Amino acid sequence: MQNIVIVGASLAGTRAAETLRSSGFTGAITMVGAEAHMPYDRPPLSKNYLAGDWDEERVALRKPEALEELNLTWKLGVAASGLDTAAKTLTLANGETLTYDGLIIATGGDVRRLPNQPDIAGIHTLRTLADATALRDEITEGARVVVIGAGFIGLEAAATAKKRGADVTVLEGLEAPLIRAMGAETGAAIGAVHERNGVVVRCDVQVASIDGDSRVKSVTLSNGDVIPADVVIVGIGVSPATTWLEKSGLTLRDGVVCNANLCAGPETVFVAGDVLRWPNALFADVEADMRVEHWTNAAEQGAHAATNLLAALNSTEQTPYSAVPFFWSDQFDARIQCLGRPSANAVVDVVAGNPADGKWCAMYSVKNRLTAVLGVSQPKLVMPSRALLSTHTSREDALAHFVRVTAPPPPPPAA
Ligand SMILES: Cc1cc2nc3c(=O)[nH]c(=O)nc-3n(C[C@H](O)[C@H](O)[C@H](O)COP(=O)(O)OP(=O)(O)OC[C@H]3O[C@@H](n4cnc5c(N)ncnc54)[C@H](O)[C@@H]3O)c2cc1C
Repeated sequence: MQNIVIVGASLAGTRAAETLRSSGFTGAITMVGAEAHMPYDRPPLSKNYLAGDWDEERVALRKPEALEELNLTWKLGVAASGLDTAAKTLTLANGETLTYDGLIIATGGDVRRLPNQPDIAGIHTLRTLADATALRDEITEGARVVVIGAGFIGLEAAATAKKRGADVTVLEGLEAPLIRAMGAETGAAIGAVHERNGVVVRCDVQVASIDGDSRVKSVTLSNGDVIPADVVIVGIGVSPATTWLEKSGLTLRDGVVCNANLCAGPETVFVAGDVLRWPNALFADVEADMRVEHWTNAAEQGAHAATNLLAALNSTEQTPYSAVPFFWSDQFDARIQCLGRPSANAVVDVVAGNPADGKWCAMYSVKNRLTAVLGVSQPKLVMPSRALLSTHTSREDALAHFVRVTAPPPPPPAA
């Protein structure tokens, strides 16, 4: 009987297990997860769950019966600590060794910490259910919440905290929020959404220290400003969770580097989700390879990696994974949706609405070709752009498309 091990009991890992079973794999599947929880969904952690509107049961990725049907062996609350691809063995932090015929790595990301971040109460990061529960319990009406880092997670947490009546300040080192993800113009417009809702957004500032004895009291900036704080959220991004693979011989470069089929080199080792770096053929002309930290990507890659692993085990043909990445983010009443790869170095054209009004759509082009379409509360313009993005549409053709689709309807014929 063949034996598949999945490392990372979360979104990509669960989708991989489901695909293995739905494809008819009847061998053993072991799911190893560092967290003690059954798989849950992360997007609500900065939104409905943090707001106190959803409970733990609601963030579960699947109902217990559905997971039971998969007939998996669960090893939860224990991290994988080493991999020997020649011997096809995996070492766990509790000393156990697992053997495998096929392996799927879906270990996601670990939150980054500030270099001088003290270990005192009131300082939070937000990646896991445990993080979100601890943070939720401290965001009370009137609490002074300081968010360090204006990325998506920090901004979503800021919006949720503000909605719960906290007094929120966001600190960002660059000149606008979300610059790396979306560029300065769009990032500044999202920052303005927060300011309109009463969040203080301070850009171009450096945090010198987070201060307090047993509990946080304030954040000091390099210009000497001191911002009082009851709660600090450090939202400075994640690093792919690859430390455990350092001696494995797999190629690690801001993620596990794979081929287009999501194979890491050894022929039955596949990777999916936030931890994967792979060449996405649809964007090969602008990015040699990419790592994507979005929900849809992790779900799709989990399924794809499982399908290709079965092909590898059965010596049948594998297929490359190429896709137009998609993400969404909810901040106050702004629903951000984005298809493609927005970047700070792109030419940005606003093709509908006006960023100042908080409702707009922008397209991004690199090397004169469309690379992303991002809308704020503009779902009808974003989602139909997938075809444009998967066919290397030039900037001119994309602009013409948006002129067409946003043109006002012709006046009714004169009576
Ligand atoms: C608060 C929050 C809000 C988000 N909101 C959105 C959103 O609105 N839209 C969107 O598109 N995306 C959103 N995302 C991103 C999305 O949730 C991730 O892209 C997705 O969860 C990635 O799934 P994954 O399975 O690759 O990794 P993860 O979900 O990170 O799961 C990896 C699992 O592997 C485990 N693990 C790590 N190392 C080991 C090891 N050595 N051994 C065993 N297990 C290990 C981890 O504990 C974890 O449980 C959000 C993420 C967060 C944190």
